[in-house]
Amino acid sequence: MLRIGCHLSSSKGFLAMGKEAVKIGANTFQFFTRNPRGGRAKELNLEDIAAYRSFAEEHKIAEILAHAPYTLNACAKDQELRQFAYDTMCDDLSRLEYLPGASYNFHPGSHVKQGAETGVQLISEMLNKINEKGYGTMILLETMAGKGTEMGRNFEELQEIIDQVEDTSRLGVCMDTCHVFDGGYDIVEHLEQVLQEFDAVIGVERLKAMHLNDSIYGLGSHKDRHEKIGEGKIGLKTFGAIVNHPKLKNLPFFLETPNDLEGYKREIAILREIADASN
Ligand code: FE
Ligand code: FE
Ligand code: ZN
Repeated sequence: MLRIGCHLSSSKGFLAMGKEAVKIGANTFQFFTRNPRGGRAKELNLEDIAAYRSFAEEHKIAEILAHAPYTLNACAKDQELRQFAYDTMCDDLSRLEYLPGASYNFHPGSHVKQGAETGVQLISEMLNKINEKGYGTMILLETMAGKGTEMGRNFEELQEIIDQVEDTSRLGVCMDTCHVFDGGYDIVEHLEQVLQEFDAVIGVERLKAMHLNDSIYGLGSHKDRHEKIGEGKIGLKTFGAIVNHPKLKNLPFFLETPNDLEGYKREIAILREIADASN
């Protein structure tokens, strides 16, 4: 069965998110580990987590995705900002030990005119340092649209990071459809070639999740503006090809489209409708 969900607000806790997911026909979901702009995380509520875990088991919710605050910059120029990114990620990952099976997605960072090579080096250094802590959670690098000095603008740049990480057994990639399209990968006309390229450069076994977003702007625009499914430049047909693709259909899919819960419910229903019955 298609594993699909959307981004949910974590303000009311895990059980509330689980219930919301079920209400909208989802069997997974994504959430920010804390305010997306950073800042302190709420105290862990172990009772809420225990209640969530039994609810999730009962309702077959799995492969949920935690999203790091997008202001974290693992390759910031300022050492204090890099330390902040490291401390925050460690704090997030130590909390995620209570949610086995969840993955942790983060934006690789912005090299802020230090050059992509320095960016790659700083990000992989941080991942190596995090690995020393021995957390059990799978960490995912998100494919980015290449806005400004954003890292992860193409598959090669992600692989350069992965190449410099010593233990990659818990390192994967989350592909965001809006970002790769904005980054210049034509998933509308050439999905198969894009996937072949991903496989040749990174390896498709490294792909662990997908963000399903349509895009307001066109191919190669580097803008990163999400649109509702079927209402942007990517279009419903491509999302149908994605959720039915043999290399992708078993991945968890997450909507990050501009929607309220009703809108997400509709999009999930549409995608379930166009997914093959075999999935
Ligand atoms: Fe993201
Ligand atoms: Fe995304
Ligand atoms: Zn985005």
